[in-house]
Amino acid sequence: MILAHNDYQLDQQLDADVVIVGTGAGGAPLGAVLAEAGLDVLFVEEGGYHPTTSFNPYGTESIGRLMRDGGTTTIQGRPLIPYVEGRCVGGSTVVNGGMSWRTPERILQEWQQLTGAPELGPAGLEPYFSRVQHDTAMAAQLEVSLGDDNRIMEAGARKMGWLHEKNTRGQYLCVGCNNCVMGCPTGAKSSTLVTYIPRARCAGARCATELRVERLILEGGRCVGVQGRAINPRTRQRDKLVTVRSKATVIACGAVQTPHLLLQHGLGRPSGQLGRNFLCHPNAKVLAIYPFDVKGWQGVSQWGQVRAFRDEGVLFAENMIPPSAIAALQPVHAQPLWEMMHRYNQMVLGGVLVEDSTTGRVLRGPLDMAIPRYQITPYDIHRFISGVERMARMHFEMGAERVVLPFARRHFATSVDDLANLDQVVRHPDDLDLFTVHLMGTARMGTKPRESVVDLNGQLWDLPGCYVSDASLFPTAIGVNPQVTIMALALRIGERLADQLASRAA
Ligand SMILES: Cc1cc2nc3c(=O)[nH]c(=O)nc-3n(C[C@H](O)[C@H](O)[C@H](O)COP(=O)(O)OP(=O)(O)OC[C@H]3O[C@@H](n4cnc5c(N)ncnc54)[C@H](O)[C@@H]3O)c2cc1C
Ligand code: SF4
Repeated sequence: MILAHNDYQLDQQLDADVVIVGTGAGGAPLGAVLAEAGLDVLFVEEGGYHPTTSFNPYGTESIGRLMRDGGTTTIQGRPLIPYVEGRCVGGSTVVNGGMSWRTPERILQEWQQLTGAPELGPAGLEPYFSRVQHDTAMAAQLEVSLGDDNRIMEAGARKMGWLHEKNTRGQYLCVGCNNCVMGCPTGAKSSTLVTYIPRARCAGARCATELRVERLILEGGRCVGVQGRAINPRTRQRDKLVTVRSKATVIACGAVQTPHLLLQHGLGRPSGQLGRNFLCHPNAKVLAIYPFDVKGWQGVSQWGQVRAFRDEGVLFAENMIPPSAIAALQPVHAQPLWEMMHRYNQMVLGGVLVEDSTTGRVLRGPLDMAIPRYQITPYDIHRFISGVERMARMHFEMGAERVVLPFARRHFATSVDDLANLDQVVRHPDDLDLFTVHLMGTARMGTKPRESVVDLNGQLWDLPGCYVSDASLFPTAIGVNPQVTIMALALRIGERLADQLASRAA
């Protein structure tokens, strides 16, 4: 059953064995495990339910209904880093690219060493990765779904002597229509909207949508549910009060909204780590314009990645997005923008992704606003400059006419000569244009209350009955796209919670 704003009374009371706040990569798999174990599961989701048949390529319609604050959210710091989060049933998995990588072995070894827990190491998590791989149909793309922009990236990497690897994506029979960021209109992408949520619903789970949770209900030192307000989808006003009482409460709101919700209750005291260790895997866009048609919109985004610079924590990937989004990012306007966008068919858009070398923090601001803060380091600036320079050089080798650089003091390069002295062009962090969609790490999992926010079961050290299951759990940055890691941890937490509730009932 899916409930929406119209279905709630002015003061609505609901009950469940487990309430799960958030339906993205962390919430949905856990809900499926619990519902299939026979528990009464209620998802609570701030966004609406938008089925596959409703997805289209129109940004004016899709961005507002599928993304938080219409995609205008920003990380504070120098530079400001815009970020995007999904806000709908399926969360960010509905608007993501579907790239699916297991956590690298070296990271899992680091987690095992850091926490002393083999459960977080390669062998401990292996069974969960296998399940995610099966559940989300992780596989390489069919040849038919490729576009020429990806072919240029692969040929360019070969020409430069760089390692290029094919991405596995969570998809089945993707046709490469390149609409992933506005919702997959064929249902091929394995977002949780079409995988774990239907599984959970088949096993009896309910989903209360258009409902923002504003606080936890605490009684006798335990969490016994949540309270929030339904959001009228037409006016965006929060009006009806909805209270959910439960035996266990799982917060799966993502690495920004989860600490925001928990911080108002003064939680995370033993370590002081709640909201800290904020990781965001920032990236810089490089746009090449070729003298011939590429039609980058025909074919899947990020078919492969240049992984030659993994040791430096740097990845390159093609990442074509709709014309409205590209136009909004350009450093020109009026006639020059018009002329540039006329060449949309000739564009290849790519990203330089940099693994975090530092951490930020999520603070709770006024008016129910989360404030993420993050300051890139001189080392990151250096990696962005060298990454952009390398990628632009590759495009010139492949015959590009012009490259739009993510630097405020040098927007355009028309030959490799314009790539000289870039370290003098970027004199200050504000001279960089960055962006991100990977938010992680603000309620880290661990084995010691003094170092982490939740234990290995995902339960808050200082609030029994309250669990976290989302990207907040990561102890450190993972350097690859995060959804598979989040889903694997969620399956594990779900299994443990099901066992705990069963033994309590026995
Ligand atoms: C454009 C884009 C492209 C991406 N591409 C990839 C990719 O190719 N591969 C990959 O691995 N990862 C990708 N990611 C990242 C990946 O999708 C996320 O890391 C992952 O979905 C995060 O899972 P989560 O459970 O932490 O949060 P989400 O999936 O964001 O889910 C959180 C949910 O909680 C809800 N919520 C938040 N606060 C409240 C509240 N107070 N009350 C009720 N509900 C609430 C939100 O509406 C949302 O639905 C991408 C992300 C984006 C935005
Ligand atoms: S490219 Fe593939 S996964 Fe993305 S929207 Fe199109 S069919 Fe769906």
